[in-house]
Order: sequence, then structure tokens, then C-alpha cells
Amino acid sequence: MRYVSTRGRAAPADFKQVLLTGLAPDGGLYVPEEWPAFSPAEIAAFAGQPYAHVAAEVIARFAGDAFPRDQLQTIAEDAYATFAHPAVAPLKQLGDNLFLLELFHGPTLAFKDVAMQLLSRLYDAALAGSERTLTIVCATSGDTGGAAVEAFRGARHARIVVLFPHDKISEVQRRFMTTTRDANVRVAAVDGTFDDCQHLVKGLFRDEVFKTDVDLSGVNSINWARVAAQSVYYITAAVALGAPHRAIAFATPTGNFGDAFAGYAARRMGLDVAGITVATNGNDILARALETGRYAQAGVLATQSPAMDIQVASNFERLYFEASRRDAVETARAFEAFAVEGAIDLAPSTLAYMRDGFTGQAVGEDETARTILSTLNETGELVDPHTAVGLAAARRATTDDTPLVVLATAHPAKFPDAVRAATGADPALHARAHGLFDRHERIDRLAADASAVKAYIRRFAAG
Ligand SMILES: *Cc1c(COP(=O)(O)O)cnc(C)c1O
Repeated sequence: MRYVSTRGRAAPADFKQVLLTGLAPDGGLYVPEEWPAFSPAEIAAFAGQPYAHVAAEVIARFAGDAFPRDQLQTIAEDAYATFAHPAVAPLKQLGDNLFLLELFHGPTLAFKDVAMQLLSRLYDAALAGSERTLTIVCATSGDTGGAAVEAFRGARHARIVVLFPHDKISEVQRRFMTTTRDANVRVAAVDGTFDDCQHLVKGLFRDEVFKTDVDLSGVNSINWARVAAQSVYYITAAVALGAPHRAIAFATPTGNFGDAFAGYAARRMGLDVAGITVATNGNDILARALETGRYAQAGVLATQSPAMDIQVASNFERLYFEASRRDAVETARAFEAFAVEGAIDLAPSTLAYMRDGFTGQAVGEDETARTILSTLNETGELVDPHTAVGLAAARRATTDDTPLVVLATAHPAKFPDAVRAATGADPALHARAHGLFDRHERIDRLAADASAVKAYIRRFAAG
């Protein structure tokens, strides 16, 4: 199984290289050279299987011969044993054809755990017996950082640095990152937005000397293994609701477009996906792009759903690559121009391709809060603000008899202030968060400046 860069100027790589690197050296994102596919019979056979089994089957298709199948099974079983629900990603029915897919039963209460728990174990397996210690640098809008720290703390072959936007995440999100004592973890508040953090991280990958010196690695959703791991729950949810004999629609709360693109990956693997609603908050670059054909950056707004306060959706490049018939020259031109001008005008055929699989819906702050309240009143379910954005967007989606699955991306206890403001009720402190408020926090502070960040990481990597 080989991977190519969306910008076409990097050598093809195998799964292990893609896993351990993250971003391609030409600034593009890796995608499979050919999409693996499941037949309808193979999809049907997933019914009733444990989540870890389906995960191992899916990763095996993407990994090629990088790992033996039984090793993937063990890794997936270990990874998902950390989840507090036996189904790992259970469905909850809210209405006749409306379902929540609960992705927050992992150690840090957001869907990022689903991929990250698997990734850290794949890293361990890939690096077993080697002398390497990778430096993982991760930009976070709040949840990736906690999931990555939890998954990689104490790792034998990796140290981890997390950059988060100062003052722009919830306290529970922050404490999941800052209260670990492991020596291989550093967390820094950057004076800027998530987009600034992500831009800094991408810049590190373009500095070949720095990259080699610290043995740089990335676990943002630019890392293909994240997307691969996240495609699994689209499949398990669809199968539970009758796939392959029936099409299923999804609504995905979206920031960096990684999770939504995982749904696209599931579709390319043979799942009958009736459509994916790309649900954004007021940071609506993706909803606007799908509506108007112009992908244009705007200023970042602070919202109740901070994990989606993003205006540069990295994984959109993967969709653009597919939508332009895998034209790497065109994709490189478009995204290099975007870095300078902050906008891309989508060709009619590109836009038509995207609209065939995706609809965009932007949800404002009032509607998000009203949705938290009405969901509680009507169904008894307390949802977090990101999930509420997905639910509000789902309400606008045209509904026929197709089941619609809204991805519940975080537990409400992770965003108590927003939930309290919307409902007047305090979500109970989650058992997984016990102790977070008693522990000492370790946080460094950095300017949004490439050389300051490099110096900081070099000091850490030098021990
Ligand atoms: C990261 C995150 C999102 C957005 O996911 P993307 O893959 O960046 O689109 C949505 N909700 C929550 C709770 C998140 O942590």
C-alpha cells in the first residue's frame, strides 16, 4: 500500500512512513495511491463484530503489509480497552430517523481519543527495536492535545510538544493536557489562534534541518492514520443501522475537516453514505465554500465550540485533490496560492464533485445554545456545544427515510460553562475528569513566532 502527496512533489511512501511523518515533505497531505475497498458482503460481515475487529480490518487495508493482521488486532483491542463503553462508539436514538454516535467514551472525553489511542500503539509497534526518539509536535484547538498527551505520555520512542491557542480553550480541555507529570510531555500556550498554531507546526515540516535534528513527527489530522482510524466508526454505525442494505446519512461537526473526510474515506471504501452534512459554527469557511464555490479565509471568531474555531481546514486539501481528479499540479497551485491570498475559487467541476458528497451548514451561537436546551427538553440528552452544532445542522438537512447519524464529538462535561449557559444546569464532573482540578498545571508560554517555537522544541529535544 503506497501513499502519494496531494502536491505530487514528494516520493511515494508506505504506511509506516506516512504514520511516523505526518505532513509530506512538499507541504502536501498523504492520500492512498489507490483506495482500498470492501465488498457489500464484507461490509455485511461486520455486523455484530466487536469494534476492535472492524478497526483492525480497516487499518489492515490501509496498512498493506506494514503490520501483521494479528498484531493489528492486539493493538486495536488494547486501544479500545481504554474506552468506558463496550461498544466503544455506541449509537443512541433521538428520533424516528435521528441518531447520535457517541464518540466521547475515551480517556479525554472527545472523539480524538478514538484515533489517538490507536496511533500511539502503532507508533510503538513501528519503532520497536529502533533507537529513534521522535519529537511529535501537535497543534490543538483543545481536544487533540489532551488526547495526544494521554496517548503518548511515557511513550518509549516519542516525546510530545503541544501548542494550543492561549485562553481560547475550555479549562477542562486545558487541564487534560497540562496536569500530566510525564517527562516526555511539554505543553505551550501560544499567543494566537489555532490557525497560527497549525501554521507554525506546518512550517516546522518545511525546515529540513530542524525536521531531521529533532526527528519530527505530526499527529494532527494531517496524519493519514488519524483519518483511517476515524473512518471505522462511520462503518460500524452504518452497519448497525442496516448497511450495506441501506444508505446512511451523517452530520459531522467540523473544524479541520479531518472527521468529515474520514466519512468520505468510508464512502470510497464502499460504504453507501447518503451524504455528509459539514456542520460548522460561525467559523464557516467550509459551509461558505460549499455554498458559494469560494474557499476564502476570514477572521477567527471565538465560539462556545472552540474545537471548531478554525478558518484553515487542512483536510480540505485532500478533498480538493480528489475533486480535481487527483490533479497534484493543480492542487499544489491552489493551496500555495491560498497560503498567500487566503482564497481559492473552485472550478465548477470541482465544486460539483464536492456537492455530490457534502452539504455545508453554519450554525450561530444562539442556535447552538437553543439546540442544547431543546435537545435536553425533548430527549433528555445533555449534549456538548460541538454536538449541538451537528444536531442543529442535521435539523436543516432534508430528511426522508434515510437514517441520519450526528457525530457526538465531545462529552458535555468537557464544556460545562457553555452547557450551564444554555440550560442553567451544571453537567456533573465526569469520573474521567476527577482530580484534574486538584493537580498542578505545567504550561509554557510562547509567541506565535517560528524561531521561538523551534528554539523551544530544540531545548526540549536536547533534554
Ligand atoms: C476536533 C473537534 C471537532 C472538529 O473535528 P475536525 O476533524 O477538526 O473537523 C469537532 N468537535 C470536537 C469536540 C473536536 O474536538
